[in-house]
Amino acid sequence: MRFYLACALYCTILCAQTTTEFFAQSYPLSEEILSRMVVTWQSDSPVPVKELRYLTVSYYDFQGQVKQGELVVHALAVDDLISIFKKLFEVRFPIHSMKFVDEFGSDDASMSANNTSAFYARHVTRTGRWSNHAYGLAIDINPLLNPYIRGEYFCPQEGERYLDRTLNGSGMITKDSYIYTLFKEHGWLWGGECFLDRGIEDLHHFQKVVPGLNENNN
Ligand SMILES: [Zn+2]
Repeated sequence: MRFYLACALYCTILCAQTTTEFFAQSYPLSEEILSRMVVTWQSDSPVPVKELRYLTVSYYDFQGQVKQGELVVHALAVDDLISIFKKLFEVRFPIHSMKFVDEFGSDDASMSANNTSAFYARHVTRTGRWSNHAYGLAIDINPLLNPYIRGEYFCPQEGERYLDRTLNGSGMITKDSYIYTLFKEHGWLWGGECFLDRGIEDLHHFQKVVPGLNENNN
C-alpha cells in the first residue's frame, strides 16, 4: 500500500512537472499544413512558402489549463516569438485560443472569438499594401480584449466593454503590461502606439520590421 502511495505521489509530481513545461517547435510548412490554410494563404503572397514556419508554443488559457497553440510566422520571427511565449508562459499570461484563422473562416470571426493568430495574406484595409501579417511578421493577441480602434469605429464589436482600458484585466495589453515590455525588448512595435499618427490604436497587434523585407510597409 505504501509502495502504491509512493508511486502515485511520484507520478503526480512527474506528471505535474511534465504538463507545466514550456514546449515550442517550428517546422517548414508541410503540404498538410498548407492545405489547412484555405483562407490565409494566397498564391501571390509577398513571401514564399519556404520562408514561413509552422510554430507551436505552449500557453495558459483563461482556465489555467496548458494548451499547445498553432501559428504560422516568418522564419525570422521564430526565435523572438519562442522567447516571448516562454516568458509569457512563466508568468501564466492567459491566451484564449491560438488556432489557424482558417478554422473560423475569416479574420473577423477569429477576432470575435478572441483567437490569437499571425500569418494572413491580406492587404491593409482600403490600401493596396500587404499587411505585415502577410509577411508572417505580425501577431494579434487576445483581440476581443484588445480591440482595434479608429475614431468611433472599433472591432471586434463584441469587445466593446474592453474599450475601457482602465479595466486592465488579465490578458489585456497596455503600455504598462509585461507583454508590451517583452515585445519591445525584442524590437517589435505595438499597434497601440505605432499607428497613432493615423489615428489608429490596434491594441492586439505587434509587428516586427525586417530591413529588405517589410521596412517600407508601415
Ligand atoms: Zn494585426
